[in-house]
Amino acid sequence: MNILEIKNLNLSFLSNGMSYQALYNVNLALKKGEMLAIVGESGCGKTITAMSVLRLLPSNAEIMSGSVIYNNQNLLQLKNEEMRKIRGKEIALIPQDPMTSLNPLFTIGSQLLEVIEIHQRKKGSEAEKIAVEVLEQVKIPNAKERLKAYPHEFSGGMRQRVIIAMALACKSKIIIADEPTTALDVTVQAQIMKLIKEIQREFLTSFIFISHDFSLVYETAERTAVMYAGHIVENSPSDELFKNPKHPYTQALLKTLPDFKTIKLESIEGQPPSIKDTFTGCPFAPRCKYCMDICSKKMPECLSVNNSCVSCLLYK
Ligand code: SF4
Repeated sequence: MNILEIKNLNLSFLSNGMSYQALYNVNLALKKGEMLAIVGESGCGKTITAMSVLRLLPSNAEIMSGSVIYNNQNLLQLKNEEMRKIRGKEIALIPQDPMTSLNPLFTIGSQLLEVIEIHQRKKGSEAEKIAVEVLEQVKIPNAKERLKAYPHEFSGGMRQRVIIAMALACKSKIIIADEPTTALDVTVQAQIMKLIKEIQREFLTSFIFISHDFSLVYETAERTAVMYAGHIVENSPSDELFKNPKHPYTQALLKTLPDFKTIKLESIEGQPPSIKDTFTGCPFAPRCKYCMDICSKKMPECLSVNNSCVSCLLYK
């Protein structure tokens, strides 16, 4: 059962009186208890797709068409007041830098208690009990004592755990994790990924996991969508995507992962297009080794190939 559906989402940025399209007919579905990874290079549109769900967009972003369906309602049409009730409580965000969500002037405890008071309507010792419980669930030692600490007294990994604890305190149904481990060192990265996976399994929380790092989503996400220049070019079950990548961009991206047997590291020739570029055909055409004449004239539609969806004219 899908808990969230993004349908035909088109988004543009306005700049100096010009409109630049950043998302093209984005279609994604997230199942209850599933982790959906969105991967791609910087600027491909993965973060802006996720922020459209939360309606946390820059002021110059304009959603031209599409819908985001959650609980039988289109989030894009809700009043700001209604959307505020969904943000945090129903759909939470784990940002890249936890300090953007934590106030350095207040203790972890007061920030957690505020969340519990707003979203669970609990106060005093009852709220404190929940705060300690959620900190313990994210494996913060001496949870009761740590409530009195300020964010700067926590390491980056611990701060990220506090953000996850806040989502647990809200009993959020969906968590959007936007490159949550990018600022952390490799061992802490692995611990946070393990924690996220445990929470997904234990609480049946659905995750949208945004990453530029294929190796991180491998074995973590059940499904992976690959984005390129504002388009979803492939959307497949993760094991299928890694074993049998179908889109030439996915194939090329996977080859950029280090092969420790041969110590070989490949790169993708050329550069991704700029947001100012417009497309009459496939956005990957200038870099694609399988490019055909038709590719620069016709925009590929998403075609079902087994359990995958691939936007490539090779499969037409
Ligand atoms: Fe390559 Fe053509 Fe497929 Fe685009 S549509 S990825 S250019 S083969």
